[in-house]
Amino acid sequence: MGLVTLNEILRESVEKNYAVGAFDTLDDNFTEAIVSAAEEEGKPVILMIPNFFWEKNELSFYFNKLLDRCRRASVPVCLHLDHGNSFECCIKAIHGGCSSIMFDGSSLPIEENIAVTKELVMIAHACGVSVEAEIGHVGSPEGELQASEVDKRFYTRPEDAEYFIAQTGVDALAVAVGTVHGLFKGTPKIDIGLLDRIRRVVKIPLVLHGGSGLPESEFRAAIEHGINKVNFFTGISLAATAAIKETLEQNNGLVHYIELLEASHQAVKKVVKEQMCIFGTQPLAD
Ligand SMILES: [Zn+2]
Repeated sequence: MGLVTLNEILRESVEKNYAVGAFDTLDDNFTEAIVSAAEEEGKPVILMIPNFFWEKNELSFYFNKLLDRCRRASVPVCLHLDHGNSFECCIKAIHGGCSSIMFDGSSLPIEENIAVTKELVMIAHACGVSVEAEIGHVGSPEGELQASEVDKRFYTRPEDAEYFIAQTGVDALAVAVGTVHGLFKGTPKIDIGLLDRIRRVVKIPLVLHGGSGLPESEFRAAIEHGINKVNFFTGISLAATAAIKETLEQNNGLVHYIELLEASHQAVKKVVKEQMCIFGTQPLAD
């Protein structure tokens, strides 16, 4: 199957009421763990490049390796820019070969968010690339390890979501309904009533950011009520770190590096498979 767009990978998710997992990759080890987990399960997956990685690295070499792995995959894989924070960043991702981008203008006034998103949609669609955007604001930056509370002032308003989609023509919409990036302070709770009101006026796939740490029951409820893509990063990152720590402790610190890579690889793969099961990800019909 290989590389596909976000549109293709989420094509049946609204009608059939399931979600596809979207996992950030940090290196070849993560990429291999995420893609091979999907292959072993026979399920589609969204492989994401986090924006902090993007800003720090010269990506042309890395991009080629990512693209090669996605194209060789036996299942559909969407290569997606996570939280593109500028017009330029999104254009670079399209140019580099991403089959999907997210432009995160959620901190901008809505008309400014619409203006940039609309232009990116026009360019991306001309290149056969899908676009995700965000309305409302999911708190804390990606990868934050300081636990934070959900701020209800930034929840998505259904009328804004409906207006934003009509104005921009985006393919998927990230909504703020009770999660934060990184770790939660307190007990996370999805506002199902709000999600229902958004789903009533929005027909395109909805995206949940900041999923790590959410109990299984909350994930299932969110998906049942309209979420079709779940972004999951902190959970796999911390699982890899815990596996490395455990391997070091079990061997009094005398371990070859490759064993640490293997331990983290297996830990990421295990979490990805578990989350795919919770998300109810279905194999794509031909
Ligand atoms: Zn996010």
